[in-house]
Order: sequence, then structure tokens, then C-alpha cells
Amino acid sequence: MLNPKKSTLHFHNNIFYFSKRVSFHTPPSCGVRPARCAPQYLNMDLFMYVFSDSSQRKLETCCPDLIRLFNEVIKHRDCKIIYGRREKEEQDRLFKEGKSRLNYPHSSHNRYPSRGIDVAPYPIDWKDAGRFYMFVGYVQAVAEKLNIPIRCGADWDGDTRTTDQKFNDLVHFEVRE
Ligand SMILES: [Zn+2]
Repeated sequence: MLNPKKSTLHFHNNIFYFSKRVSFHTPPSCGVRPARCAPQYLNMDLFMYVFSDSSQRKLETCCPDLIRLFNEVIKHRDCKIIYGRREKEEQDRLFKEGKSRLNYPHSSHNRYPSRGIDVAPYPIDWKDAGRFYMFVGYVQAVAEKLNIPIRCGADWDGDTRTTDQKFNDLVHFEVRE
């Protein structure tokens, strides 16, 4: 069982926070929410996730709307920021590898601050596309609530069809102009 005194658990304003991820997959009998625990065991009013330092740094390279959006998403869905802003070298490398559609400086990730962000839900399983689509739906719902117009790499043209596109980028979100 997780010991709050020894773990990275913090209690602040009636919310439990975890500053680091712990491996824990069974329901907590102590009422404490461990990171990555299945949602059905959680009391959403009491527990929130937080970004790792690495994810936080990447988020800070993004525009205020993306920061606002993912600071809300992280409260209820544990996730990792893979990319915020990308410099020339990295953008061109991903373009060459076929992981990005655009070369520098044409990607939303190349803007300053970045208007594009790549985010994956934990636990990350690249073979399970369904989990990514569910996460995209959650992000879209939060964006709608916050009035932030976004475009997703799971549905570039925003027509809710996922079978009409050649390039799927399930982790990509950007703020529409
Ligand atoms: Zn992207």
C-alpha cells in the first residue's frame, strides 16, 4: 500500500497531488489515489494528476490557450507532453522520418510560442489506437467547455470522420487560427 508519508503525495486545498508517477494497478483501500489507478476506483473530487517536470517544461513552450487547456485536462487524465515547440533540427528530422507532415518552419510546433502540442495518455500503448481516440474525445470536450478552438491530428478536417484522412497523428492538437 502506498504510504503518503514516504511517497510523493501532497495535500493542498483539499486535493491530493502526486508529483511523481508510481506503479500501482490495484484499487486503493486507503482512499488515496495513486497515479495510473483505474478511473473507476477514483474519487474525482479529491484527486488530481500533475505533469512531470519534463512535461511541464514542454507545456510552457506553448501558447496560453494550450497551457490553459492541458492544465485542465491533466486534472482528470494522466498524460505526457511529448512535444511543445520544436526547433528546426528536430522538425526536419521528424519530417524526414515521416512523423510530421511539414518541414520547418511550417508546423504549428514551430511557432513561438508553439500553437501545436503532442500529448499521449498514460499508460502509453502505441498499439492501442482506441485509447488515443478516447483521449482525443476528452480533450475536445474540455476545449469546448473552455471555448478554445482546436484541431486534432486524429481528425484534421474536423468532420468527426477518422477514415477520410491519409495521415493520422493521434497525439497532435493545435489551436485553430
Ligand atoms: Zn504535433
